[in-house]
Amino acid sequence: PTHPHLLFLTTPSSYRLPAFLAAAERIGAQATVAEDTPPALARPLPGRLLIDFSDQAAALRAIRALHASQPLTAILPVDDSGVELAALACAELGLPFNRPEAAAAARDKHLMRQLFARAGVPSPAFRLCTTADDLTTVAQSIPFPCVVKPLRLNGSRGVIRADNPDQFVAATRRLTALLDRVEGPRTHEFLVEEFVPGFEVALEGLIDRGQVQVLALFDKPDPLDGPFFEETIYVTPSRLPTATQAAICDVTAAAARAVGLEQGPLHAELRINERGPWMIELANRSIGGLCSRTLRFGTDASLEELILRQAIGLPIESLSRAGQAGGVMMIPIPQAGILREVTGIEAAQAIPGIEAVEITAPLHYPLTPLPEGDSYLGFIFARGPDPATVEAALCAAHAQLQFTIVPAIELTEAR
Ligand code: ADP
Ligand code: CA
Ligand code: CA
Ligand code: CA
Repeated sequence: PTHPHLLFLTTPSSYRLPAFLAAAERIGAQATVAEDTPPALARPLPGRLLIDFSDQAAALRAIRALHASQPLTAILPVDDSGVELAALACAELGLPFNRPEAAAAARDKHLMRQLFARAGVPSPAFRLCTTADDLTTVAQSIPFPCVVKPLRLNGSRGVIRADNPDQFVAATRRLTALLDRVEGPRTHEFLVEEFVPGFEVALEGLIDRGQVQVLALFDKPDPLDGPFFEETIYVTPSRLPTATQAAICDVTAAAARAVGLEQGPLHAELRINERGPWMIELANRSIGGLCSRTLRFGTDASLEELILRQAIGLPIESLSRAGQAGGVMMIPIPQAGILREVTGIEAAQAIPGIEAVEITAPLHYPLTPLPEGDSYLGFIFARGPDPATVEAALCAAHAQLQFTIVPAIELTEAR
């Protein structure tokens, strides 16, 4: 198409949207943004749709109306929020994308685990529970260690490891309190999974007619052993042996087939131990936060440009990552409280190899750490001759930063 028109489905103020809009501009495509909006605020604006993604009938009506006035070339989920709606809308408008059933399974950890198990994809044993179950009794009948996790949250929210029945009951109470506060389907259910020991990687890929093309494999050098699972450092290329990397790609391809994904971005997370790679989860979206800034392809294409080109059917110059090793640190929130001050940014930026330090948490607002929280203090980006140097630079830069966090409620001392 000479004048492609793209519809991006996104949560409001997503970190991911600006990179997609920049890529659309770069390839000369017109972009409309649809934001997931509470029903009371839903309405069409010029160049922008405010729609409630969970009201699928109304959302599809709004997309159909847009398509009638300005025909759409492709509909793309910017983050997890729009994955199911994008597939439904594409099916309805006759645009090629993933089957709605595949998109649904990529968004629901219970459906995903069932499909992995059926297809023989290495994946932890699991059991579905509800928040109404007698969890003290459940605790007597499950093996430890285990993790409890919500079906549809992300960023490790609500994922908690338990090593014994007492910890399990405490973890499920904490998870239930969190699920009571979030909106959405299946928030009265959660998974209990066998804890998979090992280390972790993230695979960034592009699926083309069912084939997974690997764009980047990231090592996560931090130990992720719980009780909460804060992701911090991602470094690419992976330092794993070639055979291990090949096994990771094979398991990921099998997982994508099991879920039925046929097109578009793929973000997969796996844990690796002496028994090989284990699928933790996959998503029909690209890497979260600002992390895609670590990637460049061919001459100078962004990850988002590759995704858009594939969706529109434009040629892609190269799927090979360009340049040096790259990495990002998602700066975790160390404690609850109000962020008062951040110092040391210049010193962190002065560390060799550091490309940028971006503090995204606003000052004077409350911070919530995991497992309840859903944000980071910011991001540190590094580049270097090899992954070890990149990792060291990220740690050195982080060590330069000081965050002053004060208690949210200052108690006056009792007399
Ligand atoms: P989310 O969608 O919130 O990222 P995940 O299922 O990916 O949820 O879990 C978040 C993190 O928790 C994983 O990256 C991993 O570190 C840890 N984790 C989740 N499930 C398991 C498991 N069964 N065994 C070991 N670690 C796990
Ligand atoms: Ca996820
Ligand atoms: Ca994850
Ligand atoms: Ca709820």
